[in-house]
This record gives sequence, structure tokens and C-alpha cells, in this order.
Amino acid sequence: GTATPLLEVENVRVTFGGIVALDGVSFSVQRGSIAGLIGPNGAGKTTLFNCISRIYQVDTGAIRVDGQPILDTPTHGISSAGLSRTFQNLALFGKLSVLDNVMIGAHARTTGNFVNDALRLFGVRQREAAIRDEAMALLEELRLDGIAGELVAALPFGTQKRVELARALASRPTLLMLDEPAGGLNHDEVEEFKDVVRRIRDERRISILLVEHHMNLVMSVSDQVVVLNFGRKIAEGTPSQVQRDPHVIEAYLGSG
Ligand code: ATP
Repeated sequence: GTATPLLEVENVRVTFGGIVALDGVSFSVQRGSIAGLIGPNGAGKTTLFNCISRIYQVDTGAIRVDGQPILDTPTHGISSAGLSRTFQNLALFGKLSVLDNVMIGAHARTTGNFVNDALRLFGVRQREAAIRDEAMALLEELRLDGIAGELVAALPFGTQKRVELARALASRPTLLMLDEPAGGLNHDEVEEFKDVVRRIRDERRISILLVEHHMNLVMSVSDQVVVLNFGRKIAEGTPSQVQRDPHVIEAYLGSG
């Protein structure tokens, strides 16, 4: 019952040499809500994502999760800070099973390091049963339980994306960051994904930050949409507010 937003991005500026990738961007995401982050190519979406997940350094500004500043947190510490993310091009262990990949996500909650966890997974049996049960429950929720034992590399892309989502959830994040989750999905998979993210928000009360080019998806699941263009926030509001904002229309038409 506090009014502190789950994610606060405050006046973030990032430059790469002479390029200003983010120019004083501020917004916040409320607990248990879905925020879409959109903008034309090169707008700064991925840069912002990488700042929050501590892959890029900011020049100036602040980022807080649950009221806690995270810019001093190293990349491997973000799971403990409550963050979890997926990647545009997937980051799964192809030669491990679906279940093992998701169990690794659960281990990351305590140590925050996928690579160490991969090595540790078969060595440490402590807590293993509990983690396995929890991972199986997640697989059921995402309708992956029937293929728990299959090797990830052999699965269709859309299914691998669901495995990655299950793994991201296994670390029990308070903020789930999804980087172009609809990329490469067919129409039915996108429709199914809409239901999945809404359920994650509603049943787990997880906040979700969604970077996505698929406008129909963003507009139908987001509670709030933030629009970037050339590193600046040009609009913010509900999907319907943003869709009729002249600055947004111009940014998209102007980008060809
Ligand atoms: P897209 O939708 O095409 O993925 P985006 O909104 O994610 O675009 P970014 O990838 O964040 O945009 O890029 C923002 C700006 O920062 C661009 O001008 C880009 O060229 C630049 N940029 C991003 N990462 C780097 C980097 N590592 N080195 C140099 N410039 C970069």
C-alpha cells in the first residue's frame, strides 16, 4: 500500500561519442501495470532498456526500482533487485531442456548469475526439489509442461520465446522487461501472448515494461504508453491518448 511507483526513470541522459541516445528521459511505471515503450527506429528504446538492466551506463539521471536506486547495482545483481528481462534474439541454453532452462531462472533469484548457475545446477541438490516444483508450475501456466524434457534448441521459435518468458518469471521479478516479445511470432501466437502478459500482470501483480514495434499488441495490453523519438520522450498516456497525439503521428509518419 505505498504510492511509490515500481519503476522510476528520472532525467536519464546517455551519449555514445557525439550521439545523444537519451536526452533527459523521465517516466514511471506503477505497480502491477503494463507500460509500453515505443518509438521509431533509433528512438532510444533499447538503450533505455539496457540502462535499466545495467548493461549501459547513464551519463546523468537516476533509475529506481521499488524506491531503491539501481544505477550502482552491477548487471549480475539485477535479479536480486527484482528485475528480469527477455532478449530480442533469445538467450536460452539450447542444449538444456525446457525445465532446466526455467530452473536456472529460479536459481538466478538467489545468485543472479546465469552462467554460474548453469554450472552449479547439476552440482547442488539442495533446494532443488522446491525449485523444480516451482519451475513445473510455471511451465504448466505457460502450457509448456508437455515439453518440459525437450531440448530447447529443437523447439519452434515461438515456443522458445515462451520458455524464455517462463525463465524470466522464475526469478520472481517485481519488474519484467520484455524486449520485442512479438518479434517472429505469428498472429495466433501474438493473440495468445496478449492473454499471457495480462495474466502475469493481474495474477502476479508484476509490473511489465514492454518494448515492441507491434502496435496492435502494445495498444491492446498497455495501461500506459511512453513514446520516444530521437532520444526524447514526446508523449505519454493511455493507448488511446497516445494514438491520437499529433507529435506521435508525426514521428511515425516522418520516419517513413
Ligand atoms: P530500434 O527500434 O531500431 O531497435 P531503438 O529505439 O531501440 O531503435 P536504440 O538502439 O536505443 O534505438 O538507439 C538510439 C541511438 O543510440 C541510435 O542513434 C543508435 O545508433 C545509438 N546507439 C545505440 N547503441 C549504441 C552503441 N552501443 N554505440 C553507439 N551508438 C549507439
